[in-house]
Amino acid sequence: PPAETPQVVIDAHGLPYLDPRLPVRKRVADLVSRMSLAEKTGQMTQAERGAVGTGGDIAAYDLGSLLSGGGSTPTANTAGAWAKMIDGYQLRTRATRFQIPLIYGVDAVHGHNNLAGATVMPHNIGIGATRDPRLAERTGAVTAAEVRATGVPWDFAPCLCVTRDERWGRSYESFGEDPALVASMETVVQGLQGARDGRDLKDADKVLATAKHFVGDGGTGYGTSTTGSYTVDQGVTEVTRQELEAVHLAPFQEAVDRGVGSVMPSYSSLDIAGDGRGPVKMHARGDMIDGVLRGRMGFDGFVVSDWNAIDQLPGDRAAQVRTSVNAGVDMMMVPYSYQDFRTTLMAEVTAGRVTERRIDDAVTRILTQKFALGLFEKPYADTRGASRIGSAAHRAVARQAAAESQVLLKNSGSLLPLRKDQKVYVAGSDADDIGNQTGGWTITWQGSSGDITRGTTILDGMRKAGGDVTYSEDASAPTDGYDVGVVVVGETPYAEGVGDVGNGHDLELTAADRAAVDKVCAAMRCAVLIVSGRPQLIGDRLGAVDALVASWLPGTEGDGVADVLYGRRPFTGQLPVTWPKSEAQLPINVGDAAYDPQFPYGWGLTTLTRVPDGGAATLKGLAASAAAAERTHADGLGRALVGKARLVVQRKVGQAVTAAVAKPFAEAEHLLLTGRYAKAVERLTAAYRAAS
Ligand code: BGC
Repeated sequence: PPAETPQVVIDAHGLPYLDPRLPVRKRVADLVSRMSLAEKTGQMTQAERGAVGTGGDIAAYDLGSLLSGGGSTPTANTAGAWAKMIDGYQLRTRATRFQIPLIYGVDAVHGHNNLAGATVMPHNIGIGATRDPRLAERTGAVTAAEVRATGVPWDFAPCLCVTRDERWGRSYESFGEDPALVASMETVVQGLQGARDGRDLKDADKVLATAKHFVGDGGTGYGTSTTGSYTVDQGVTEVTRQELEAVHLAPFQEAVDRGVGSVMPSYSSLDIAGDGRGPVKMHARGDMIDGVLRGRMGFDGFVVSDWNAIDQLPGDRAAQVRTSVNAGVDMMMVPYSYQDFRTTLMAEVTAGRVTERRIDDAVTRILTQKFALGLFEKPYADTRGASRIGSAAHRAVARQAAAESQVLLKNSGSLLPLRKDQKVYVAGSDADDIGNQTGGWTITWQGSSGDITRGTTILDGMRKAGGDVTYSEDASAPTDGYDVGVVVVGETPYAEGVGDVGNGHDLELTAADRAAVDKVCAAMRCAVLIVSGRPQLIGDRLGAVDALVASWLPGTEGDGVADVLYGRRPFTGQLPVTWPKSEAQLPINVGDAAYDPQFPYGWGLTTLTRVPDGGAATLKGLAASAAAAERTHADGLGRALVGKARLVVQRKVGQAVTAAVAKPFAEAEHLLLTGRYAKAVERLTAAYRAAS
């Protein structure tokens, strides 16, 4: 059994590749030189664990990798069961000639989200709202620690998509619509992997990251395909070369510079204006994978395909395999047809349509990461960190992220924060539902409503905060006697595709949600929280709502939402995407010529009332303090100062934010993200002048 198997493989045959003292480069070269074509193509093959049964095929086909697709969990979904399951598969590789360890991968896209009881972070859209790259890095570090402690060394995250049309069902996997914002969040890669040279990957709390989906997944058009009516997912991204560079490629360069170990191409097609090729699937684009990603950007990790993505390429199986491998895909996620993939690839090599050189290159890249992860020395799970899974320390990070992700869109008469002496009537479909607030990719691929894992709901959090709270999900009998109503509504979980089908794809709140809002807001002053992966249309209803909060998908820590509701932390979140007035405005993004949204990109009121240094509440004073903060690299202080400056500007400007104001705001944000606080305040001053 794995537990009794020595972790250090004895160098019985004196083979150089087994010698941990040699540089990785030499070990890889030695191993590749000994391998047969069958063994090499096996390394390039990734199967779904559910397809290999107890794992006999692992040795029979020299499989290089297994994955758990969403929800493909061991029967007992515990940390111990995960580790045991993966160790069991790993043990199968001992029966192969070179005992090359498997690299096991999962989609831990917001914490170790497949594991019951793990810490679940806000989805990326909420992380984008925090505008806090250091916090994003910490969420990555927590995720890595929890994932690796279950024996999984590889994570298919982060998604570096730049969402441009929120009808896309994966919008919540995006940090936002602005490439600078998305690029700034590449710090997640550091949280997952550690140092950029990969030296931390061997650690028991680090994993290999995957930048996905390369490239343009967030730019697909709506309704432009011939294959279906809703094509915003896996559809065609039509761009000019300049747009491609500035919007979609920019975040990947950051991740490559950060040393990201793997990249996953996108299901979508890219149609570059003027290149004369029309739409071409990304898994077939050698110009982008081999040319841009490797050649120009300098990516030296390996490329793993998306799930069954080769099936979408033109031609027969042989053509699909050869096109994709020749385009630069090193490992194929062929979850169920792995035998067929390997056989076909071998035949293509024998026929000379794929060169052995290309195969050696792919295998070299894969093995390099396996060595970097220390898998040859320690193939089995190191579960010493398992006690930290879902721990208070980890949940504190998720709680902070949930709090910082809350965007206060409207706050008439300073309804928020709430006071504990107020009687609060809580209603709505998302007030007391862990499943809804964690969203898709949680426990199961699609996620689901209900009590799916451990955590606090928003309602739990409000009660724990000491609020005087009464709850009715359907807002029955919101009689008087209450000081404030809090209605929590929004989406139910989904993953990929067009999103919440139950909502009719149209970003409208459901009829039940609209009724709950109307009922409560007619009876008392009310705050509405929207729990969703993307903006929901509020339209004219906004007038009847006193306070409006975009809560995104905050994860397992409803406490974080309660923290800002009850003023234990200020609201500081800012919109990561433009909030439209109507569906007709979509797609809508900051920088558009005609830009008249309900709330502009970057919008977010703050309840911050005290500047930490007690500095003057004038823009001039703030600029000076911010300059000082910049000099001392006091991140928190700089952020607080800029938050305060925004407050001053927004008080004056109210909601009459026009395009003229949105631009300096967006610029200020960019400066803030890159730590140039004083300059950020200068831009905010410009925003103020433009408005007045
Ligand atoms: C998704 C990827 C994911 C993969 C493996 C695909 O359907 O597009 O983001 O990594 O499945 O679960």
